[in-house]
Amino acid sequence: MIRAVDVIRKKRDGVPLGDDEIDYFLKGCCSGDIPDYQTAAFLMATYFRGMNEKEVFSLTDSMVRSGKVVDLSGIKGTKVDKHSTGGVADTTTLVVCPLVASCGAPIAKMSGRGLGHTGGTLDKLEAIPGMKVSLTLDEFVNIVNSVGISIISQTDDLVPADKKLYSLRDVTATVDSIPLIASSVMSKKIAGGSDVIVLDVKVGKGAFMKDLKDAMALAKMMVNIGETSGRRTVAVLTDMNQPLGRAIGNSLEVIEACEALKGRGPSELMEVCLALGSYMLILAGIAQSFDIASKMLQDALVSGRGMDKLKEMVKAQGGDINALEDYSLLPQAKIKYELKAQEDFYISELDAEKLGLCAMKLGAGRAKKEDKIDLAVGMVVNKKVGDYVSSGESVVTIHGNDERLVEEVLPEIKSAVKTSKQKVAKGKLIHAVVQRGLAQFL
Ligand code: URA
Ligand code: CA
Repeated sequence: MIRAVDVIRKKRDGVPLGDDEIDYFLKGCCSGDIPDYQTAAFLMATYFRGMNEKEVFSLTDSMVRSGKVVDLSGIKGTKVDKHSTGGVADTTTLVVCPLVASCGAPIAKMSGRGLGHTGGTLDKLEAIPGMKVSLTLDEFVNIVNSVGISIISQTDDLVPADKKLYSLRDVTATVDSIPLIASSVMSKKIAGGSDVIVLDVKVGKGAFMKDLKDAMALAKMMVNIGETSGRRTVAVLTDMNQPLGRAIGNSLEVIEACEALKGRGPSELMEVCLALGSYMLILAGIAQSFDIASKMLQDALVSGRGMDKLKEMVKAQGGDINALEDYSLLPQAKIKYELKAQEDFYISELDAEKLGLCAMKLGAGRAKKEDKIDLAVGMVVNKKVGDYVSSGESVVTIHGNDERLVEEVLPEIKSAVKTSKQKVAKGKLIHAVVQRGLAQFL
């Protein structure tokens, strides 16, 4: 007979667990037969001991089976999914998914909400008046079949085990564990039903993975889980030392996504979108090489087909497409405060995590899952690392609805911006790609 205490002890002592032991533990924790204090101990043991490839696959598989796997068989073609491990000013999904869909790859994507310093696609979509993100599976499938793309919220029965484990990880300091992140992300991707998966693994100060070595280990683990589950999976490791785009906050990021799809996107955001989108088209079998894929995406961008696709999706989900042209129809903040340079300098550092947390404190994000958010607030970073700033120019525009909160975050935003009198090189944006068990550093 398997006992929870023995499973915890084995993991504590670094002995690999069998499939039956992992499945027993996961089922017990979800049903309540295993109390939270034992699950917490198991998570901490896993945090310190890690898991081998076989254990992580087994955990992921048990997690997938804790709920329902979405049946996308009613959608024609190779369904493509994309996932980011969580970034700041990272509105990639709203740009790359319409572009890829407009090139003919169906996208049936379930997204999450923002937590902590990182944003979530669902919150951004809800900034568009009328936009519905809770659809039935039939509505979802119908929209993907007619429009080519739909983005909705994860259903309640999609990996309930992840909700249970995540809420315990959140309060036991075990979120940033490679096997626990890998199984959390991949269980949701596999249960989401898409055929192929492109992962954007963030590396840097604003990411879960602070250094390249850890990010690479996470990427390899996730790719291996995907491939073992029969889903072609590619991971791209991208920089999250500074915010990716310029806008942080929900309305603001919708505007940034629209501007990007109209050909006016910030260069770093576009570069990451083109890289991820290219792998999406390759895995979908639509492009034969990275160069061909990249060219297809550029055409979709320049011709406006990507923007049209976003509008079609928004319309199908009840949203007001006029708000994608007339941004004053999106929630607006009352206060706009310019943080201006007092002298000339180069930007040497923009702390993504700090800026994300400041946006959260302004009301753009949640400290706890239950928190209410203000879709209008956040900030726009007008200058990025390496940019030259003249005295009097605005570095950050703060969008707030509460004078007191704006005053509170101001010193923190200032401390997130480091400057230099000397020219500063722009850092690397795309670090590496992992596919078919091979890591390629760029
Ligand atoms: N995103 C997830 O979905 N799960 C994690 O554990 C971390 C990031
Ligand atoms: Ca996210």
